[in-house]
Amino acid sequence: MNPALASHPVHLPQDFLNGIHVVLSQTSHPGNIGATARAMKTMGLSRLTLVNPKRFPDNEATARAAGAEDILTQARVCVSLDEALTETVFAVAVSARHRSLGPEPMPVRRAVSEILEQTGNGDVALVFGNETSGLSNAEVQRCQRSVFIPANPDYSSLNLGSAVQLLCYELRLAAFNGCPPVVTKAVPFASPVAANDDVERFYAHLERVMIATGFLDPQQPKRLLPKLRRLFGRAKLENDEINILRGVLDAVEKAIDKTSEPKS
Ligand code: SAH
Repeated sequence: MNPALASHPVHLPQDFLNGIHVVLSQTSHPGNIGATARAMKTMGLSRLTLVNPKRFPDNEATARAAGAEDILTQARVCVSLDEALTETVFAVAVSARHRSLGPEPMPVRRAVSEILEQTGNGDVALVFGNETSGLSNAEVQRCQRSVFIPANPDYSSLNLGSAVQLLCYELRLAAFNGCPPVVTKAVPFASPVAANDDVERFYAHLERVMIATGFLDPQQPKRLLPKLRRLFGRAKLENDEINILRGVLDAVEKAIDKTSEPKS
């Protein structure tokens, strides 16, 4: 566990994420609100606050949420950033632009453990700006930290929904200490590992067939058998696999018998 987070032993990874609010300020495009809901839900966040959205609720937001409508339904709508931050203990401005005043900007990955740690004190807000004008200086100054996504310096402004996605992803990774649980685990088909005497019977069968076909000269076996043991040893043979291999050997033996039967 990240040492900064270990000081909160009662917190489970999901508890950290439940303490984080995504705050979208002055959003123009409802599609970005929907994309934000989807981005949040995929990363296990659920609390969305909208400050003066231009259009909300809106069909486009619902469509882009693609199954994360519950987050839109529960979203809080506020008239000002002050109102949105009333009950939070820590606010983080998310902005690509560096300002001369306000908290010193830091790359997001450097900030995530402090953000998660602050959820132990109360609710934490991540504040995102408008699509065209971003966050105002006054909005940034209302926050205790400022983070940026270290993008291409020549083209650093991400789409709002993408910026939300990246922030939520970084927080999820950090909350689960780099190893979030995986979505689906396909159970690989496997049969039990073969017991030693079954494997030995297979080797004996293989040897008989190699001799019968003339592939192995018992007077001059060289290192063929130890090499084959090494090959099959690496494969950790399973019961089903032994049965298949012995079936092949049976078929070879039958074919040999047929060719050696006297023609009537
Ligand atoms: N033209 C605006 C960018 C708006 S993008 C500007 O110059 O600020 C909409 C929002 O996405 C931003 O306000 C910010 O919250 C987030 N965002 C986009 N790119 C970002 C980046 N590289 N780092 C941090 N936040 C970013």
